[in-house]
Amino acid sequence: MNNLIKKELKYAFIIPLKDMRYLSSLDHSTLNDMITRIDEHRKLDNRPTLSTNQYIVCNQDEPYAESVWQIILQGERDKIFPSDRDYLNDPEIDSILKQYPCPCCGGDALIEKGYTTIPQINDKANVFHVICSACGLQSDFVPSIRKAVELWCERV
Ligand SMILES: [Zn+2]
Repeated sequence: MNNLIKKELKYAFIIPLKDMRYLSSLDHSTLNDMITRIDEHRKLDNRPTLSTNQYIVCNQDEPYAESVWQIILQGERDKIFPSDRDYLNDPEIDSILKQYPCPCCGGDALIEKGYTTIPQINDKANVFHVICSACGLQSDFVPSIRKAVELWCERV
């Protein structure tokens, strides 16, 4: 539940429409000024205006709230780290890497798996790089094995 609260505070501030009646006309005016100011800055940053973005809001006490949250988490994970079939021990990848041995020592290039934290969703995801089995020369960690292989091959 902590993750949920943190995420909501980070991304959105919501006033239910039915509660707008508790605001004075000055409050309404101030709120409009705030939205206008935010939109002006969003335009300068080439971002869509607040009214352009549409949201799905779900109360945390709804019985389906946890399911919605898990779908959102998976969606955020997939955006940052698109799902990747397992290329470890894949003959196609092995044959590509055999053609691109280490540019420093000629050693065999291997796929290595690591983990990175994703602060936005307070979770971890797999990352991959190619490393020389002889001298340890390595490419940067990236979210997919295919991308890691591409980086290694461009370098060689
Ligand atoms: Zn090497």
